[in-house]
Amino acid sequence: MGARVYLSPPHMGPDERGLLLEAFDSNWIAPLGPHVDGFEKEFAARVQVPHAAALSSGTAALHLALQLLGVGRGDEVLVSSLTFAASANPIVYQGATPVFLDSENETWNLDPALLEQELKAATKRGQKPKAVIVVDLYGQCAQLDVIERLCAEYEVPLIEDAAEALGATWKGKPAGSFGTMAAFSFNGNKIITTSGGGMLVSRDAKLIEKARFLATQARDPAPHYQHSHIGQNYRLSNLLAAVGRGQLRVLDERVRARRAHRAFYEKELGALPGIGFMPLSPLGEWNGWLTVITVDPKAFGASREELRLALEAQNIESRPVWKPMHLQPVFKDCRMIGGPVAEKAFEVGLCLPSGSSMQPADRDQVVEQIRKLHRR
Ligand SMILES: *Cc1c(COP(=O)(O)O)cnc(C)c1O
Repeated sequence: MGARVYLSPPHMGPDERGLLLEAFDSNWIAPLGPHVDGFEKEFAARVQVPHAAALSSGTAALHLALQLLGVGRGDEVLVSSLTFAASANPIVYQGATPVFLDSENETWNLDPALLEQELKAATKRGQKPKAVIVVDLYGQCAQLDVIERLCAEYEVPLIEDAAEALGATWKGKPAGSFGTMAAFSFNGNKIITTSGGGMLVSRDAKLIEKARFLATQARDPAPHYQHSHIGQNYRLSNLLAAVGRGQLRVLDERVRARRAHRAFYEKELGALPGIGFMPLSPLGEWNGWLTVITVDPKAFGASREELRLALEAQNIESRPVWKPMHLQPVFKDCRMIGGPVAEKAFEVGLCLPSGSSMQPADRDQVVEQIRKLHRR
């Protein structure tokens, strides 16, 4: 059996190493420094949003966004159900209540029709949500222009959870450039990584300035330590920002490599009975983060889980699609609007190895094992 084929391992180059060592030697070993400033500027330019704050995680970025919008006890926040728990957890940190929305078939992202229905009904009830969090799943943008327009119409601020979508676009605009604020993640398995890290971006300079204030323990301007707000310790280390700057330089290459994996999988597996692919909307450019297939057990001859176990037995890592939040024990008492699209995606969806450093021989192995299971 060969070396393990991972789902989405980190992919570093020589620049990252050089920048990290430069940061180390400069002794800026702190959650501030020239690489933090540089990473913020370069990142903001890349996503075409003027202001950015480098943070310790994507979760921290979402938590700060909710604080900046004044989300608190008794508030409701609408959020996609088909996502990672980190999209919803910060709502609970703030003492507010998540309300989950189903996906649409076109992108597997938040269904704008359900959003409109809920915004209308909630307005009528006099219980308008305090914010909407829209997730760009597996590197594909939601219908962000439509969702942005709806939120503007109902005067509810929009947060874009673009943690998985750096490098993607929707109708020619970068992921992260929609809504009041957007959050990104540089966790170990994301398209670029700093081991752990995140970014909050906004067109509003004041919001980002306040995010930096809250993220550094909310210290008032005074020679002594003085505080009139509760803050957090959420800034990104200068060492990790150095790695992030190097990763940002190769983002386009990473996107190309990952998209080529899906093209390969489609070519090799597309004709197999019972195998389908996560739909990609022609209105957006997907960043290729993870290739997701769907498995129809009757036509294919094995279930999603049987396929996952068969790959695992060959030391190939694959993962079921996110289990929707409304099916999670911890959120069982939360309201859910719709549900069949997200539930179906979870039931039949499997993420295949998609790392930008994956070699052709590994990819061939994945395809071969899937074919073999089908023949059996
Ligand atoms: C990874 C991820 C996050 C959280 O980012 P961290 O950096 O791991 O805290 C949030 N939302 C989504 C959709 C993610 O995939």
